[in-house]
Amino acid sequence: MTTPTDRPATSADWLRRDAAAVWHPFTQHATWTDDTPTVVDRAEGPWLIDVDGRRYLDGVSSLWTTTLGHGHPDVNAAITAQLARLDHSTFLGTTHTPGIELSEALIALAPRGRGPDLTKVFYAGDGSSAVEAALKIAYQYSTQTGHPRPTFVRLDQAYHGDTLGAVAVGGHELFHRAYRPLLLDTIGVASPGSRDHAPRERAALAAAELTAAMRDHGDQVCAIIVEPMIQGAAGMLDYDADYLRLARDLADAHGALLIFDEVATGFGRTGSMWAADHAGIVPDLLTCGKGITGGYLPLSAVLAAEHVYDAFLTRPGDTAPRTFFHGHTYTANPLCCAAALANLRVMAEQDVIGQAARLGDRLGKLLEPLAALDGVTEIRRLGTMTGVEVTPRGERTGFRVCQAARDRGVWLRPLGDTIVIMPPLTLGDDETDLLVNALAEALDEVLA
Ligand SMILES: *Cc1c(COP(=O)(O)O)cnc(C)c1O
Repeated sequence: MTTPTDRPATSADWLRRDAAAVWHPFTQHATWTDDTPTVVDRAEGPWLIDVDGRRYLDGVSSLWTTTLGHGHPDVNAAITAQLARLDHSTFLGTTHTPGIELSEALIALAPRGRGPDLTKVFYAGDGSSAVEAALKIAYQYSTQTGHPRPTFVRLDQAYHGDTLGAVAVGGHELFHRAYRPLLLDTIGVASPGSRDHAPRERAALAAAELTAAMRDHGDQVCAIIVEPMIQGAAGMLDYDADYLRLARDLADAHGALLIFDEVATGFGRTGSMWAADHAGIVPDLLTCGKGITGGYLPLSAVLAAEHVYDAFLTRPGDTAPRTFFHGHTYTANPLCCAAALANLRVMAEQDVIGQAARLGDRLGKLLEPLAALDGVTEIRRLGTMTGVEVTPRGERTGFRVCQAARDRGVWLRPLGDTIVIMPPLTLGDDETDLLVNALAEALDEVLA
């Protein structure tokens, strides 16, 4: 017989303990438990399972990371094997085999096209810390190749992470406003993805602003930083590849570096390995994270062009060290590197990029009828990065749509009033149908 003291703990029990002890990211705790958040206990493939045994389709890949689904046997085995061999060893002063192998693999996969080859890999732990490293590299590069260029060109509505440097090059009003007094000076230009204007006008306006910013301030700009092809956290604002070609030209003309932040877009998310591939443009620095380990462990990296790396090498007659004095305690943790290597192996063996491209096309077709619904403003998509923007109907409309989807077995997290759909790249047809049907019903319920 079960008594109240020895029955298994339920979601409600765990949520009481959570509320007493935990401070969650991007979360308003005054109302947190009112929404009865899901207490995730297990996961398999595309499914999350809560402590009460309820199953939810992981419709946003556990915040854009889980590209292969949960519990992939190859990734699990690679992590376990690495754990038995070497758990951690520092990358400051020693090196290790998974770190070397992963660097080689990333360089082999780096985007090709107009721009330099990316030939060196610098590791960090999260997307933000990769961006932070890239910003410091770009500034120090300017001091070691010409003259100090203390500013960056950044796009309106950009999101590059939450550390202060990353926030300084961000342009997300809601997330970034509060910290403005703490930030570096940067030059904001119009987003080519802004929905304030029709497609042709927004492209022309953004191109004109970028050109003017570089004309007026180019010799003070160490780098232009963009999320290539699509601004994720802004609500999946996709834009034309021509903008990236222009950014490459302007960076070159003014001696600035070009940084592509592919933390969200890398590793097949947009239907090709990199968003850069859609434009055929290669940046001088490329940041990646999120899907790099298939979503299993935290890891990020900066891929750097040889000419950037070279500027950090000591030469005869130097009066100051050229060293990049930057790194984190867990830089290139071997378990994370092993997970990433396994992920890249599975991606190659199972043509995960091809699967992602097909899944994206299928999602696009299935979502098409929803675009006509009253209250759906626009559906935007590149590969499997999808945003369904709704017209607000009262408070937290996007969130209420996601709650209604959760009632139907699909877990989603919105960006304001944009519902994000970003499933594992290997999602099957049945689960894709379930996802879109749940969303359709949820939209009906909330927008009716
Ligand atoms: C998520 C994201 C980041 C931040 O990555 P974290 O791992 O959350 O620090 C940076 N840039 C882009 C484009 C992102 O989508």
